[in-house]
Amino acid sequence: MCIKIIIICLVLVCFWYYLFLKKKKELKRISVELNISVEQINKICESILQEFKKYDARVICNWGGFDTTETLNVCSRLRFSKRIDIKSTWIKKLLDKKEYWEIAFLHTIGHELGHKDKEPIFSILHTKKGRFRNWVRECRADFYGLQFVQKEYAFTRNEVLKAIELKIDYNAPDEYAKQKSDFIHPNWNLRFQLLSDYRNFNQDAIRYIAKEVGITDEKYIKKMIRTAEL
Ligand SMILES: [Zn+2]
Repeated sequence: MCIKIIIICLVLVCFWYYLFLKKKKELKRISVELNISVEQINKICESILQEFKKYDARVICNWGGFDTTETLNVCSRLRFSKRIDIKSTWIKKLLDKKEYWEIAFLHTIGHELGHKDKEPIFSILHTKKGRFRNWVRECRADFYGLQFVQKEYAFTRNEVLKAIELKIDYNAPDEYAKQKSDFIHPNWNLRFQLLSDYRNFNQDAIRYIAKEVGITDEKYIKKMIRTAEL
């Protein structure tokens, strides 16, 4: 029994050490790539962490676990977790010191906060209803992020939309990428069109998504409106 516990502890310590070394190596790589010191990167990460504490979120620079592409991603983990992980590519954009990248970053964090705000539960069912539900979640989070930046940082709706467009053009540079949907995310064209055409994530916006997915079940649409309307 005692040996088993010692072995488990050793495995855990080794795993922790592996993650520590991985993070250190990645930090060094980013520091060389961006030509700034590790201390400067840590300082930026610390200021990001402090900034969003007031919204009950822990925004962490997490250098592992993401893909190695240049896309700008964040991950909000579980709904009840306060943690939001950001990909290192965001640091590069924030260093640009261009206001619109800053707004795009704020909107991205707002989007993730939206995922933690009583949204409908994610569907694992690969059905039309499942797709509708997941698309509603994503679009709702987009609207939540838009309202978050307007309310908390006093940027105008047009400024936020321009920043979102900038991020879309970066992440999906051609028309093919902009039209690509999956089971969880509607395509960027649809997401941006909704944000531009509807002032709020109201029943009209939700009905628009239902039409795009091909949902005609009125009872289910009404259920989504009840649970997702902002
Ligand atoms: Zn999302």
